[in-house]
Amino acid sequence: KKLGIALVGLGSYSSGQLGPALQHTKDCYLAGIVTGTPSKAVDWAKKYNIPKKNIYNYQNFHEIANNPDIDIVYIVLPVFMHKEYTIKAAQAGKHVICEKPMALNAKDCDEMISACKKADRLLSIGYRLHFEPHNMEIMRLGQQKVMGEVKHIDTGNGFTYNGDPNAWRLKKALAGGGGLMDMGIYSIQGSRYTLGQEPVAVKATQQKLRPDFFKEVDETVFWELEFPGGLRTTGKSSYNNDWSYLKVEADMGNFGLGPAYGYGSIEGSVNGAPMKYPQIVQQAAQMDDFAQCVQLNKPSRVPGEEGLKDMKVVDAIYKSLDSGKWEKIG
Ligand code: NAD
Repeated sequence: KKLGIALVGLGSYSSGQLGPALQHTKDCYLAGIVTGTPSKAVDWAKKYNIPKKNIYNYQNFHEIANNPDIDIVYIVLPVFMHKEYTIKAAQAGKHVICEKPMALNAKDCDEMISACKKADRLLSIGYRLHFEPHNMEIMRLGQQKVMGEVKHIDTGNGFTYNGDPNAWRLKKALAGGGGLMDMGIYSIQGSRYTLGQEPVAVKATQQKLRPDFFKEVDETVFWELEFPGGLRTTGKSSYNNDWSYLKVEADMGNFGLGPAYGYGSIEGSVNGAPMKYPQIVQQAAQMDDFAQCVQLNKPSRVPGEEGLKDMKVVDAIYKSLDSGKWEKIG
C-alpha cells in the first residue's frame, strides 16, 4: 500500500518542491493538505486531484485523526509552529515528518520527541541530503576513514536574502534566528556526518553588513567546532553570501562537495576527480524512505534525535556569540 501524506503549510517549499516530489514517490503519495488559505486549497485540489474530505485548515486540523487516508503528516510551517503541529499530528495518531530546523531550541525538540514516543508514532526531520548520493558518499569516505583520518573540515552554506523584509524568517520569535537556523544547520550536519561524531564545544563570531535588514536575526556566523579527540572544524552560515561547499582534508588526500547542500545539482570530488553519481529528486527519496520506515515500524535514519543534536549545537553557537567564549554543547 502507498501511504498517504498530508502537507501542512503550502508555502514555497511545499509548492516548489514537496508537491512536485510527491509525483515521483513510490511508497507514498500526496493524500491531503492543511492550509489557512482557501484559494490555495482550491488550486491544490485541482492540480493534484485531492478530494475535499482530505483538505483541512488550522481550526479543524485535529479532525485528521479520523481520516484513514492520511498516514503521515509533513510539517512545512515557519519554525515557531513546528513543535505545536508536530505534537498535534502525533496526538492525532499520525507519523510525522517535520521540516528543518526542527524547532526554536533544543528544549522544544525534546518535547517533540517525547510526545511522538508517547503517542507511539515515528518522527523524522526533513534532512533530504541523507538520501542524496554525493552526500552519502561523503558519509562513507569520512566515517569509514576510506582516505585515512580526517584532518580538517571547512564548510559553509548561505544565500543572499533579498526577500520580503517583513517575512517570518527575519523575526526572531518566529524563526528562532537567521542564517544560522535556516542555512547553518546544513554546515553543522556536514561536519557531523563527515565524521560520524558529535561535537563537544563551539566558539562563534558574527558579521552584520546589513543591520537595517537583519534587525532581529543573525546575518553571517562563523564557528569552530571541537570534536572528541580534539579535532577542530570550521563552519559558517549566511543570509548575505552564496555559499554551499564542504571541504575535507584527510591523511590520504582531499574530498568534498560544491554545490553541497541545495536541492539543485550537487557536485563532488575525491582528490580532484569528479564523483559520478546521478542527480536525484532528494525529497522523493527522503519521503519514500520514511514511508518504508512506517511500514516496517523502524526509526528513520533522520529521526527527531538527529534534529535535536543540531539544535544543541545551534543553542551553543548563540550562547558563544553572547559570551565571546568557547561553550560546551549539550
Ligand atoms: P514559506 O514562508 O514559503 O511558507 C510557510 C507557510 O506557512 C506559508 O504558506 C504560510 O501561509 C504558512 N503559515 C501558516 N501559519 C502561519 C503563520 N502564523 N505565520 C506565517 N506563515 C504561516 O516558508 P518555506 O520556505 O516554505 O519554509 C517552511 C519550512 O520549510 C521552514 O521550516 C523551512 O526551513 C523549511 N524548508 C526546508 C527546505 C529544505 O530544503 N529542506 C527548503 C525550504 C524550506
